[in-house]
Amino acid sequence: MVTNKDIDREFEAGWYSLYDSLIVELDDLPCEIKIKQAKEKFALLRVYYTIDDKYKDYRDKVDAIIDKYVQLSERTCIDCGSQEAVKKQYIHGYLVTICDDCYSKHKDS
Ligand SMILES: [Zn+2]
Repeated sequence: MVTNKDIDREFEAGWYSLYDSLIVELDDLPCEIKIKQAKEKFALLRVYYTIDDKYKDYRDKVDAIIDKYVQLSERTCIDCGSQEAVKKQYIHGYLVTICDDCYSKHKDS
């Protein structure tokens, strides 16, 4: 079970479905996981959580699931969710994981 999953998402809408799928997978585990923070950092999805000591044997499992979505975020546009032509690019001096289409929109704005 996952608690506090409706925390503020500190990333753009393109990653919302990644986060939602991550929560669904974590929800399936027979342990309580409390989400502490969900953010973008260094162009990757980062999700921080706490887990009660009595469930500590599940930590590796939780980390593995989160890691899978961190890797997915590396090829998912943070703006539109596309997985086409996605790379890490600088926008206004800030490194983001973004597709070429969204990149050119930002560049012109
Ligand atoms: Zn995009």
